[in-house]
Amino acid sequence: MGAGVVEAVVVERGTLDRGTAVDGQPGEWRRRGFADGIGIDVHHRAIRRKAINFAIPGVYTDNGEYPMDWSQVELKKTVNLPKTDFSMKANLAVLEPRLLAEWKDGNLYGRIREARAGQPMYVLHDGPPYANGNIHLGHAFNKLLKDFIVKSRTMAGMDSPYVPGWDCHGLPIEIKVDAELGSRKAQMTPSQIRKACRAYAQKYVDLQNASFQRLGIFGRWEKPYLTMAPDYQAVIAGAFVDFFAKGFVYRGLKPVNWCINCRTALAEAEVEYEDHTSPSIYVRFKLTSDSSAIDPALAGKDVYGLIWTTTPWTIPSNLGIAYHPRFEYVAFETDGAVYIVAAGLLETVKTALGWTEGEELARFSGAKLDQLTFRHPFIERNSLGILGEHVTLEQGTGAVHTAPGHGQEDYVAGMQNGLPVYCPVDGAGRLYHTADEPGVLPEILIGKTVWEANPVVVELLKEAGALLAYKPITHSYPHCWRCHRPTIFRATEQWFIGMDRNDLRQNALAAIRGVKWWPAWGEERISNMIATRPDWCISRQRTWGVPIIAFTCKSCQALVTDREPLDKVVDLFREHSADVWYERTAGELLGPGFACKECGGAEFEKERDILDVWFDSGSSHLAVLTEENGLPWPSDMYLEGGDQYRGWFHSSLLVGVGLKGGAPYKGSLTNGWTLDGEGKAMSKSLGNTIEPEKIIKQYGAEILRLWVSSVEFWEDVRLSETILTRLTEAYRKIRNTFRYALGNLDGFDPATDLAPFEELAEIDQWILTRADDLVSKCRGWYDEYAFHRVYQAAYAFCGTDLSAVYFDVLKDRLYTTATNSSGRRSAQTALWRLTDALTRLLAPVLAFTCEEIWRGFARAGGAPSSVHLALLPAEGGFGGRMNAGSMAQWDRLIAVRDDVLKVLESARQEKVIGAPLEARVRLEAGESLLPLLQQYEAQLPALFIVSEVELAAGDTFRASVLRATGVKCERCWKYTHDTGSDADLPTVCAACAAAVKVMVAG
Ligand SMILES: [Zn+2]
Ligand SMILES: [Zn+2]
Ligand SMILES: [Zn+2]
Repeated sequence: MGAGVVEAVVVERGTLDRGTAVDGQPGEWRRRGFADGIGIDVHHRAIRRKAINFAIPGVYTDNGEYPMDWSQVELKKTVNLPKTDFSMKANLAVLEPRLLAEWKDGNLYGRIREARAGQPMYVLHDGPPYANGNIHLGHAFNKLLKDFIVKSRTMAGMDSPYVPGWDCHGLPIEIKVDAELGSRKAQMTPSQIRKACRAYAQKYVDLQNASFQRLGIFGRWEKPYLTMAPDYQAVIAGAFVDFFAKGFVYRGLKPVNWCINCRTALAEAEVEYEDHTSPSIYVRFKLTSDSSAIDPALAGKDVYGLIWTTTPWTIPSNLGIAYHPRFEYVAFETDGAVYIVAAGLLETVKTALGWTEGEELARFSGAKLDQLTFRHPFIERNSLGILGEHVTLEQGTGAVHTAPGHGQEDYVAGMQNGLPVYCPVDGAGRLYHTADEPGVLPEILIGKTVWEANPVVVELLKEAGALLAYKPITHSYPHCWRCHRPTIFRATEQWFIGMDRNDLRQNALAAIRGVKWWPAWGEERISNMIATRPDWCISRQRTWGVPIIAFTCKSCQALVTDREPLDKVVDLFREHSADVWYERTAGELLGPGFACKECGGAEFEKERDILDVWFDSGSSHLAVLTEENGLPWPSDMYLEGGDQYRGWFHSSLLVGVGLKGGAPYKGSLTNGWTLDGEGKAMSKSLGNTIEPEKIIKQYGAEILRLWVSSVEFWEDVRLSETILTRLTEAYRKIRNTFRYALGNLDGFDPATDLAPFEELAEIDQWILTRADDLVSKCRGWYDEYAFHRVYQAAYAFCGTDLSAVYFDVLKDRLYTTATNSSGRRSAQTALWRLTDALTRLLAPVLAFTCEEIWRGFARAGGAPSSVHLALLPAEGGFGGRMNAGSMAQWDRLIAVRDDVLKVLESARQEKVIGAPLEARVRLEAGESLLPLLQQYEAQLPALFIVSEVELAAGDTFRASVLRATGVKCERCWKYTHDTGSDADLPTVCAACAAAVKVMVAG
């Protein structure tokens, strides 16, 4: 052999990139756009290029006359089989941490911010979870929904930053820290206790932060907002000072929900209803006013007011009996006494008290009872007849026992009638003699807790002859959210934001109407709450929080009302944290020379209460939506669970309306609860919880993301092992859809190989037009937060349109036609466009998998390195659209295909054929269908994946299956009449022979 002779020494596919010339000079082997191992260029000095198939062993010369021994061609190796590194098995547990680390190292979030700078903004303001414990499924659910919104808005081209935050103050942490400190706490200063609380909160902030990031949620995780950060504490304190200076704030005695175990006032949201057994009693109060004033028929009779209550311990605090001004009442005489009872409840009362006989003496409206006096059964004082709209006919007697110190409605009715707010119960729930006691409490009650007092009061009533019935009942009763013990209503000195000061209530109601609520019922829910809520009690008697900045003059008790010294304290908070309140004296905080405006006194007392944590979190928009953070006020969206109508939606609204004149959000979304597979709430005690951490380990965060996308999130949602298994299966299907596309795109370069839409095969045009429709719908659904529709439609598209129809039909064209044939390039163009679009379309949900695909994919020139920097696919972004008429025709052909597949399946079961390619399908069709079938006759075998199709006119559509005629081609397995027509390749059909020769010989 002479110079220029190259020996192909390789017989294995894909193992060689360099051959050795027989003359000893190195030869260079280069791939030339063929599937790996099929064709290569041989360069050897002056040797001209020639494609050879190195799968065929032998010696090749440079004269162009390759001694092709066609019998040596391994036909299997001339089939374009898919090839990709994108594995069938996701191995998410490895993939996810790797991608997370790369995103972090590459500062992906920062790069997204840069890429979107200057675009229209969309700001979802994060509601802060409580920094206590690990994240649970509900947290993951809420945060992932937020992430879908942020990612989809970002990929829609908007600038959508996400600043996560934590709620760090409050009772739950203080209680945990109390338990950890134990007896040591007694020796600690408030500031030391606060340091312990801070460390505790920080620990869980860090833990939760890592857990949220692990879910693939993008945000400013390295600098979240924390309500315990000094600058945030200053914002909270400043908001209080602002409310105070604007005249919203007052101090007053008022009944509040009170936990005698935790010894603190509780917010509405901190009260939970649980079953509780209470003594229910009927008590009579003798009328001391002239009874004939009610009705002449009552003259000279012993008349009684009759009340029903389940809190006997409040009887000593009874100052009135409330009647409804417009209800009808009856004077009913039995056993020598006359009782005043609402007409609508008379039968109930008769049954309860065992009144079998008696007589109705008179009927009159409740208004008649206004300002009459009754006698307290065992205390030297009167009980005043008053009127109130809060009286109902739901239970009791229609006469409501009124203790203004122990009930919100009692308080309001009492205020209207000049009754004092009498509360002889201390913080520990024990009765005591107050300084200005209306009538003296019996000594036997003093020092008893309200629960201990209950039977004593019952006994006192019995002795006084005032107890008409006694029965324990189980009912829904308020309990403390922390210790789960029953709470009481107790009047204490508290700080309030007056709902009707500066029209706060009306302005809040107006602001609600300007917000878009999803679901729509949210508007009514929060409106009703705002319309009827009492004044906001913002003080708490605890240590871990933001102190209420207030000073009282020691000599005259006047409050310091100047704003300037209060603002100075706010600045100190910013500088040193709110701990400074506990570390410095009032004098130090106010500065030297500060004197009381009222009396000139120089000594002041610091307020000891801290602010309600809902005030903290309700101020988050003031702390976060700032110019410094580059975030506009108001935000576009708040998204939280349904409990936040009472909580964060609510407190944020009041802070926003009070201080900034509007709601801090333009829209509000609500997510439901996470339940187990049977619809039960998850709880540790039931043992039915599914921890996000466990799902991540076992399935991957991606499966959790997929689950969140799959549910109608505003309803309560379920999760179980069965559901997770089903989702894993769905994920596998979606993944395999991409795997098919990537495998068949091996070697495809969009820069050179992308075919124009008009030149694509019709079925390729059809699928791209279907994909375009999908994109358009999904973009709309992302805008509407209908993630479950995106999931359903994308899943159906992958499973049905692609896997079951299009990919199936495509296989023959991709595998058996020549690598560079126009038919294969058309199919690959469609696959490339589908992959490119679907990856971007699903990236907000499948954040990890889509990134993996994006990296293993020959992206368009100029496409960003991360899919999360890319944009959602544009409508009409597939290079063209098939017209509606052709789409309808193809939809019809696909429908015919479905029918044919069914017939093929039964033929296979009846063993008429083995594989579908052994079939010859005979279609009979009427005038409405036959012309279409004739038009596409040549494409029908490929569409049905059979060897032959025969058409005939008939009355109705009918498909039947016969065995194919012809000879089976060894390469494509079709039965044809031209198998063996090429003498070089006698076992293959003419099409295959041509393809092989192009591929091997070039
Ligand atoms: Zn409690
Ligand atoms: Zn003073
Ligand atoms: Zn063939």
